[in-house]
Amino acid sequence: MRLLEQQNFHDQRAIVRVDFNVPLNDELQVTDKTRIQAAKPTIDHILSQGGSCVLISHLGRPEGRDPKHSLKYIVDTVSEILGVSVLFCDQVVGEKALNASGQLMPGEVLLMENLRYHKEETKGDEAFAEQLSKLGSVYVNDAFGTAHRAHASTTIMAKYFSENKCFGALLAKEVKAIDKVLKNGESPIVAILGGAKVSSKITIIESLLDKVDHLIIGGGMVYTFTKALGGTVGNSICEPDYCDYALELLDKAKSKGVVIHLPVDVVAGDTFSNDANQRVFESNTIPDGWEGLDAGPKSCEKFHELILQCKTILWNGPLGVFEFPNFAKGTITVGESIAEATKAGAFSLVGGGDSVAAVKQFGLAPKMSYISTGGGAMLESLEGKTLPGIAALES
Ligand code: AMP
Repeated sequence: MRLLEQQNFHDQRAIVRVDFNVPLNDELQVTDKTRIQAAKPTIDHILSQGGSCVLISHLGRPEGRDPKHSLKYIVDTVSEILGVSVLFCDQVVGEKALNASGQLMPGEVLLMENLRYHKEETKGDEAFAEQLSKLGSVYVNDAFGTAHRAHASTTIMAKYFSENKCFGALLAKEVKAIDKVLKNGESPIVAILGGAKVSSKITIIESLLDKVDHLIIGGGMVYTFTKALGGTVGNSICEPDYCDYALELLDKAKSKGVVIHLPVDVVAGDTFSNDANQRVFESNTIPDGWEGLDAGPKSCEKFHELILQCKTILWNGPLGVFEFPNFAKGTITVGESIAEATKAGAFSLVGGGDSVAAVKQFGLAPKMSYISTGGGAMLESLEGKTLPGIAALES
């Protein structure tokens, strides 16, 4: 892995692929600055070494040059976060783009227009990638959020920089955090997998069985396992087509020495709503008219004990319907257990959309060792895939 620190930026113009795909409100103001803040260390480093930065990113999924998706709306926010007056070019390739980047002086930052105004970007078009490569002399990829896409700016353009390419600080941090769990995690290692459906987590579960000592299964996935084991699940979310698979998985885990932990009790509601009447049932005896919506108190206690014994913790997916405050307790409790274990010295990685949202919502984010910035990229990493954006930097 070629790191930022190993690259010479003095008098160099670095093209930095950042992930500035930030949410904008109706007034086109940035409502969550996390991704811009996450790119700051890389940009600061390049500038401090006497280089300049050409920032390239996508924003949303525009059809053609939809003005609502212009990166010009984020220029002020980027300037404020970097503490530098950021220049903007309303093109990303072509003469105007080349002129703007060519005039950049050391210490300056130029943000280019949305890459996805060109359909060639997502197609991974070679000619488009070659044009992008002419914007600078060094290529830095710091966009973990799109590292699982073989797009022109995230993967294809790397080949035009035989030596002069490297990982950005954020990308390197993400890869190291994942390796710290999947390749060199200290035992015992526990993965906590929640979320709605078994069917969407199959490859992750399969891949994790080779890496962890314990697997906690929570959320809506539980009921497919419970049904497969002969329990009654009432109206709980369940995928009967995956019952055989669930049994197979339990067998596989056993043969690999991985202990699977399912909730022993659940908090159920009589409707799928925050205001539903609540009752706690053993997880395999949920009567008709009730659906499991959260992990129960006994389960949380057991999970707490286990999590505190572990030295490496991976968390993906909520333990219940945490969007309903009345069914968020399991997710919060598990988050607090992870925070406590982390304080005691364990390494904890939280990744994949909803669990990241949950830890942020419940104020637990600062108590985790690492929170991934990439949803899809994180999930594909957990599936054991090599991300094309990362492979391109290493070849
Ligand atoms: P995923 O995207 O697969 O990680 O699923 C996240 C979603 O799973 C969240 O929106 C949760 O509300 C939902 N979820 C978690 N537990 C349950 C459950 N017991 N029943 C229905 N949905 C659930």
